[in-house]
Parts: sequence; C-alpha cells; structure tokens
Amino acid sequence: LIRSVGSADYRLPHTGFSYPASVPAAALAAEDADLIEHLAAQGRVRLHLTLTPQTLPDATGYNVVADLKGSEHPEQIVVVSGHLDSWDLGRGAIDDGAGVAIAMSAAELLQRLHLRPRYTLRVIAWMDEENGGGGHDAYAKTHVAEIAAHIAAIESDAGAGHPLGFSVKMSPKAVAALRPVLDVLQPVGSTVLRNTSVSPGSDIEPLVDAGVPGIGIIQDSRRYFDYHHTAADTLDKVDPQQLRENAAAMAVIGYAIAAMPEPLPR
Ligand SMILES: [Zn+2]
Repeated sequence: LIRSVGSADYRLPHTGFSYPASVPAAALAAEDADLIEHLAAQGRVRLHLTLTPQTLPDATGYNVVADLKGSEHPEQIVVVSGHLDSWDLGRGAIDDGAGVAIAMSAAELLQRLHLRPRYTLRVIAWMDEENGGGGHDAYAKTHVAEIAAHIAAIESDAGAGHPLGFSVKMSPKAVAALRPVLDVLQPVGSTVLRNTSVSPGSDIEPLVDAGVPGIGIIQDSRRYFDYHHTAADTLDKVDPQQLRENAAAMAVIGYAIAAMPEPLPR
C-alpha cells in the first residue's frame, strides 16, 4: 500500500488527478502487484486492505539554500536543485535524494576545479515537493522582486539513472546559446536537448511560469517507476557511476550558464 485517501480530497502528485474524499483509493507497489498477479493465476484472490490515512495539520519546513557567489554579477542567479522531502515510504533515495546530491555535487565540483562562475550558482533543496509544493511557492513569493535576476532554473527530479540530456523550456535563442555546451557532455552521453511545453521540473515551475528559462535532466527512467514512491526507494537502487554522470551533467550545464558573458536570453 502506497497511500490512501484521507479526510480531504487528495491530489496525486505529478498527475493532476485528484480523488474526492468519499472514494477510498489505494495503490500497490510493483512487487505486490506481481504477487497478486501470480496468485490470481492460481485461482480466486481475496485481498484485505487496511487503510490508515490521516491528514495532519501543516508543519513548518524549510528550503535549504546555498550560494556559490558569482565573481562579476553575484545578484544574478542560476538555480541548480532537487527536492528534500520524500514519499512516506522508503527513504526517497531516487526521489529525490539523488537530485539533491546531484545539485550539491555541481557546486562542489566547481569548487574543486577552482572554477568561479560569473553569476551566482544557487543550490536549492526544495521542501514539500510531494505534498503540494509549499516550498517552491514560498520561494517564488519571497523572491518575487528578484525573479528577473534568475537567469535559469535547473532541476533533477527523475531519479539517478544515466543522464541522456536535458528537457528545456526556453526561447529558441536560449536553446541556440546552450547547444554548444552539449559537445562538452559528449563523453558522458548527455547530448539530448528536448523542448517541452510545460515546466521541466515541478519545483522550478513558478520560476519557469514567470519567464525564467527552465531545464530538467532527462534521466534513463526505465527502472524509476519500479521503485518510485514505494518502500523499495532505497540507496541500493542508486548506481554510483550513473550518479556521478548526473553530477557532471548538472555541473557542466550549470557552470556554462553561470559563466556566459551575457545572461541566457529570455
Ligand atoms: Zn520527486
């Protein structure tokens, strides 16, 4: 059982679906569904579900933010990010501990290589992605006067699989400025640049909706939904080499944008 309906209408994250409070709903992890399929092949299956949902009052949480200050325009910001909270089962290793690690590694790699970006590289570990997006909404509200100073917003929230490239929501001019950067990522194999009509990450959506160029890492997600939002989302599902490839992809794209002579065009 992954999650069941509480006393209020429940919105299923990432899907846009919501269940009215009057209809009980539950979800099974892939392993449990496989077990039921196996048993069903042998005859009639009876299932006893114990649903124990509660909707507790909101508590205070915090986005965690760290700046690697820009050398020329520290007031201009390139966001690299993942989300800090996770589903209530498992440990959230692939959703989205990996994304936080990838964003932190980008800043750490620049430090280690003694690369100082022209604009500030801001690492954000967003709070409350899974339960309504309170963290990114609060950020957009708090920083409303500085939205124009955000050059780009990058997020990793599709696991820790091999990075194939980036999905982007930005102007054709910005795409053209970014394309040469992909050559640097040829050895990693992260060369896809795919336009999307929606924000390429849920936490960067308020920034992207306000016109900030948005970028999401496209991970190889073939195994992602085997573990996503289940008790099986644990650290052993993260391949260290693929995690390093993601850190490289995030560092290259983040640094490239934060070091351009002119901010990425809108
Ligand atoms: Zn996530």
